[in-house]
Amino acid sequence: VRPLLEISRFKMYFHTDKGVVKAVDDVDLTVNEGEVVGLVGESGCGKSVTSLSVMGLVPRPPGRVEGGSIRLADRELTHLKGREWRKIRGNVVSMIFQEPMTSLNPVFTIGDQIVEAIRQHRKLDKKAARRLAADSLQEVGISRKGILEEYPHQLSGGMRQRVMIAMAMVCRPKLLIADEPTTALDVTIQAQILDLMRRLNRETGTAILMITHDLGVVAEMCDRVVVMYAGQVVEEADVNTLFNQPRHPYTQGLLQSIPRLGQRAERLYSIPGNVPNPKQMPTGCRFAPRCEYAMNICRTEEPGLFAIGDGQNSRCWLHVDKKEEADRDPTTTT
Ligand code: SF4
Ligand code: MG
Repeated sequence: VRPLLEISRFKMYFHTDKGVVKAVDDVDLTVNEGEVVGLVGESGCGKSVTSLSVMGLVPRPPGRVEGGSIRLADRELTHLKGREWRKIRGNVVSMIFQEPMTSLNPVFTIGDQIVEAIRQHRKLDKKAARRLAADSLQEVGISRKGILEEYPHQLSGGMRQRVMIAMAMVCRPKLLIADEPTTALDVTIQAQILDLMRRLNRETGTAILMITHDLGVVAEMCDRVVVMYAGQVVEEADVNTLFNQPRHPYTQGLLQSIPRLGQRAERLYSIPGNVPNPKQMPTGCRFAPRCEYAMNICRTEEPGLFAIGDGQNSRCWLHVDKKEEADRDPTTTT
């Protein structure tokens, strides 16, 4: 396996009138070539800001890179400028969002939009680009005649998401970032879109970073999972290990909050308490105010992301020998 995306010790803060929001604070995350990685956590945990940072789409200011690096296909991204980003975006990395209507332009036809996406990166004449656009729609399972002439509002939500995937994939990026791509769709369409993404991953080798709060989607799609909480990675493991042996108390809580078949809604477990205010992160472990295992050290010292075997990492003092804990250097992911 070769690493494709390597985010290390990355920090993106927002400087606002009311204080500094540490949206992403010391994140380590790797996606290998061809791999499907799930990035999970409650809303506001920093998943979206992390992925928008990889696309160069965080507005700066108020966003500011406070440290760390993002390497994609052997290029450092954190210092790129506008024009350099345009060469990468849509070409090396593409992104699809929850609501394709907001990323499709309502006044242009589907055909014109895909052709435009192609011609930003490939020197093709109009005719060849249109042929490629039609092929890319075939590839995502749209074969309806005249589709290139239609406008976004003429398509169903599922079709629009297929169009977005076609457009994102047409230049064969090495990485596709999908931010809650199926959340707005009904269950049947959701399953079809996940199947499609998995097939494209197999057939083209494009790696996928799947951002979701839905652990069902993760189980369905992903090879590896990264769990974020309050701007940090708190656990990382391959998908089977994460579901069978979650080690971080937050991950354990997330897994217990998945509804099981036949379980009544009011009996659902959910993690007590709220995500901390990002302007006033708790000292020590950020999960301590909600953690049933919290110890004294948890409230004073921040745990590192400890390697606990088989590629599993957990940001929790429970995994360190208590006697050594104070002076031990946290082992970070490689
Ligand atoms: Fe809970 Fe302490 Fe582990 Fe944080 S470090 S998750 S508070 S046990
Ligand atoms: Mg989000």
